[in-house]
Amino acid sequence: MHVIIVGGGISGLSLALSLQQIGVPCRVYDAVPRLSPLGYGINLQPNAIRELTALGLGEQLAAAGIVTKELAFYNKHGQLIWTEPRGRAAGYRWPQISISRGELHRILLAAIHERLGADAVVTGHRLTDFAERGEKVVARFADPSGRPAGEAEGGILVGADGIHSAVRQHFYRGEKAVFDGYLHYRGIVEAAPYLTGASMAVVGHRTHRAILYPVMQRPGGKVMINWLAYTKIPPGSPPLEAWDTAADKAACVGQYKGWTYPWLDVHGLFAATPAEHVLQLPNVDRDPIPRWSFGRVTLIGDAAHPMQPVGAQAGSQAVVDGRVLAASLMAVRDPAEALMRYQNERIAAMNDMIIRNRNLGLESILQTAEERAPQGFAHIHDVLSQEELEHTALSFKKAAGFDVETVNSRRSFVDLPAPG
Ligand SMILES: Cc1cc2nc3c(=O)[nH]c(=O)nc-3n(C[C@H](O)[C@H](O)[C@H](O)COP(=O)(O)OP(=O)(O)OC[C@H]3O[C@@H](n4cnc5c(N)ncnc54)[C@H](O)[C@@H]3O)c2cc1C
Repeated sequence: MHVIIVGGGISGLSLALSLQQIGVPCRVYDAVPRLSPLGYGINLQPNAIRELTALGLGEQLAAAGIVTKELAFYNKHGQLIWTEPRGRAAGYRWPQISISRGELHRILLAAIHERLGADAVVTGHRLTDFAERGEKVVARFADPSGRPAGEAEGGILVGADGIHSAVRQHFYRGEKAVFDGYLHYRGIVEAAPYLTGASMAVVGHRTHRAILYPVMQRPGGKVMINWLAYTKIPPGSPPLEAWDTAADKAACVGQYKGWTYPWLDVHGLFAATPAEHVLQLPNVDRDPIPRWSFGRVTLIGDAAHPMQPVGAQAGSQAVVDGRVLAASLMAVRDPAEALMRYQNERIAAMNDMIIRNRNLGLESILQTAEERAPQGFAHIHDVLSQEELEHTALSFKKAAGFDVETVNSRRSFVDLPAPG
C-alpha cells in the first residue's frame, strides 16, 4: 500500500521516516519549488525526542540545537514567577531540544534522501484536488505557475499541509483561520548566553509578552537566541495569515522599552537584532474539528490541529501524530480502520490543546500574576500559591501527553529498532 503525503514540513517528513521504518512505501509532495530550511526557533519536547530517537536522529538533533535545561516565567518587571527543570534535568529519559526549524527540517530531509532516496520528495506540486476511487485515492497537483502537474495514486492520502491545508478544506469547505488581532514579531540574534545558558524564558502577560530561547551554539561561547514578541496588531493593518512577512523592527522594539533585567536585557536583545532578521507572523489557529479521518484520507500536524504557539507544542505534536499513525497502520490491516484508530487516539487531546492554548496554557500563571500584582510583588507566594503554580504546570503537561511519568513509562508507539 502506497501512502501519498501532502506537505513536506515537520509532520510530513517525520511521517515519511516512520513509514519507511515500518516498511510502508510513500512519497511526499510539497507545493514549494524547492524545500529550503526555513524558520527560526522550534522546541521539541521529550515526547517528540523519544520518537525522533527511535528514528535514529536523537544525537544529530542534540548536536544541532541546544539541550534545554529549564523553563522560567517572569513578570514584566523581570521578577521570577515560576521555574522548572526541563528534559533530562526534570527526570525524563529523553531531552528537550530547542533548535532552528531550518536545522530540524534539514536533518529530516537528509535522512529521507538517505533512507528513501532523492525522489521520495517531489517539490513544485501543490495539491489541488483528490478523490477516493474504490481502494485508491487519486491526488491532483498543480505546478507553481498553476498549471496541472499530474496525478498520483495511493492506498492512503495524508494531509500534512499545514495550517492552510487544502486537504482539510476539502472536508471543511469555507472554514476560516481564527486570527485574534495579535501578532508575533520574531527574530534571531547572536548574543551571550543568559541564565543557565539553556533556559527558555517567558516574560510579561497575555497582551504583552516575550518568549526567548537559545537554539544554537556559536563560536566564542555565544549562542543564537530566538525570540518572539507578542503584541496587538497596529491599527489599520490588514488581517494576516502568512508566516514570516517583513516586520517593522522599530515598532516592535519600541514596545519593549524598560524590559531590561539583571538576568537579561530583553529590549537590548531585540534592538541588537538585525532588521532583516525580524519577521512577523499572525497569532492564528483554527477551531477544533470533529473528524480528521475520512475513509482513506486523514490529517496530521497543523492541518489537523493548528494551535496558537503557547507551550511549544506544534512541532512536537506533529511528530507524535506521525508515529501514532504509523503504529495504527502496523496494528490494523484495513486502511480506513487504521486511520480512524489514529484519529481516535489523538483528536480529543489535540482539540483540548487548541482551547488550552487560547487560554494561554501553562503560561496562564503570567496573566494571573499580572492581574493580582500589576506593580510586582515582594514574594511570588503572596500572589500565587505553590499549589497553583505546580498544578498549572503539571496539568498542561499531562493534557499534552508530555509529563515525565507518561513519557518515561508508556510503551513505544513503534516498537522497532532505530534505523541505522
Ligand atoms: C516556512 C515555515 C516556517 C516555520 N517556522 C517556524 C518556526 O520558526 N518556529 C515554529 O515553532 N514553527 C514554525 N513553523 C510551523 C511549524 O513547522 C508547525 O507549526 C509544526 O511543526 C507542524 O508542522 P506541519 O508539518 O504540520 O506544518 P508546516 O511545517 O507548516 O508544513 C506544511 C507543509 O505543507 C506544504 N503545503 C501547504 N499547502 C500545500 C498543498 N496544497 N500541496 C502541497 N504542499 C502544501 C507547505 O509548503 C509546507 O512545507 C513554520 C512553518 C513554515 C511552513
